[in-house]
Amino acid sequence: MIKTDIIIIGAGPVGLFTIFEAGLLKLRCHLIDSLPQAGGQCSEIYPKKPIYDIPGFPSILAGELIDNLMEQAAPFKPGFTLGEAAVTIDKVSENEFIVTTDKGTKHSAPIVMIAGGLGVFEPRKPPIENLASYEDKGVEYIIKDPNFYRGKRCVIAGGGDSALDWAIYLAKNNIASEVSLVHRRSSFRGHLDSVQQVMDLADDGKVKLITEAEVVGIGGNGKVENVVIKHKTEGEITKDTDHFIPLFGLKPSLGPIADWGLEIEKNAIKVDTTDYSTNIPGIYAIGDVNTYENKLKLILCGFHEGTLAVQSAFARIHPDKKNVLKYTTVNGVTGF
Ligand SMILES: Cc1cc2nc3c(=O)[nH]c(=O)nc-3n(C[C@H](O)[C@H](O)[C@H](O)COP(=O)(O)OP(=O)(O)OC[C@H]3O[C@@H](n4cnc5c(N)ncnc54)[C@H](O)[C@@H]3O)c2cc1C
Repeated sequence: MIKTDIIIIGAGPVGLFTIFEAGLLKLRCHLIDSLPQAGGQCSEIYPKKPIYDIPGFPSILAGELIDNLMEQAAPFKPGFTLGEAAVTIDKVSENEFIVTTDKGTKHSAPIVMIAGGLGVFEPRKPPIENLASYEDKGVEYIIKDPNFYRGKRCVIAGGGDSALDWAIYLAKNNIASEVSLVHRRSSFRGHLDSVQQVMDLADDGKVKLITEAEVVGIGGNGKVENVVIKHKTEGEITKDTDHFIPLFGLKPSLGPIADWGLEIEKNAIKVDTTDYSTNIPGIYAIGDVNTYENKLKLILCGFHEGTLAVQSAFARIHPDKKNVLKYTTVNGVTGF
């Protein structure tokens, strides 16, 4: 059981900045995110795009903003459970919630802050009849640890950056013993540089490029042993493989958050704007995941919401202590 003061569900920019504001009040945070890395939409959707409306930064790449937020939070030693979705919240006593993930990891704290943004990013899955029965038995939708594929034969499907980048990484670093990239069209959607790298690796025989084709079936006894690829001109080909990795992107959905007894309006959690608390005392909702009159889904608004929410959390955790606002210019930042 992981114990902390505040469990933050969602490690997007808002969850990350909340670690810092909580740390100033000597409150520890542990973050849970279904994605394998921190940063939410900034890391997952647009890491290389410049953002122009972060106060004090005329322009900053979304990925850089996340690096800075991680650095700013570091003195307060946050904990992370990444690559796991929070699926249940149980109130076990007046001052204790237990949040459990889809992998069974349990977290306990008196306060839960939901910073879940647009929700859990779910993989887009290809329409293959028996796909679900091979999940985690050779079918993976996210590559969490490339070393998992060391010495293995991998069939990657997709035409975007994720499919291209992983095909390059697994082949170039001699991790997988064989890399095949299957794509429906003859051209790719990813960065030109990545497309060129894949072409070069294909010329060197390090990536087997199978275009104008799609994986339509999976075979194997209890685990993936082969895939059936339907080619535009050549018909169906059965290809032996250890892994089938469809990388067709991720789509957000509110997911389990919708079932936690919270007041939901327009696919978002209703909050009281005095402290961003929800209808369940001890649970707060900050950032894109909440809704209230005049809500703006902007990073700077989420930073403000997290800041006010931790003040309220402090009062709940320490009802007998008075918190006096201290400027960081006066007190500096003293980590844990
Ligand atoms: C292309 C694009 C450009 C943008 N440009 C700007 C801009 O210029 N300026 C600006 O201010 N904003 C911009 N935004 C919006 C901005 O990215 C969001 O407002 C911001 O990311 C919200 O941060 P967040 O931390 O609330 O949520 P998110 O960034 O969405 O992060 C939420 C995290 O919660 C996780 N999560 C959700 N549910 C669960 C669960 N049950 N268990 C575990 N994890 C969970 C998700 O995996 C995700 O990582 C842009 C958005 C996009 C898509």
